[in-house]
Amino acid sequence: MRDCPRCGSSQIEEGYQLDKGYGETHLGGFIRGKPDKRWYGYKFAKEDRIPITQYRCKRCGFLESYAK
Ligand SMILES: [Zn+2]
Repeated sequence: MRDCPRCGSSQIEEGYQLDKGYGETHLGGFIRGKPDKRWYGYKFAKEDRIPITQYRCKRCGFLESYAK
């Protein structure tokens, strides 16, 4: 893991985002393409969803996200 691009600190911690649905939580994800809103929520193909990992600088709070 490299240093913070903003303040140069090497104190970076790994984490993730949670999405909240109706009574359930799941990992935040990057969805390919444009949002497709339906009456029940957003429609997308499973293979178009990529989990997001985030890195946070403990010193300045800078967040970097990776969808891999
Ligand atoms: Zn920083």
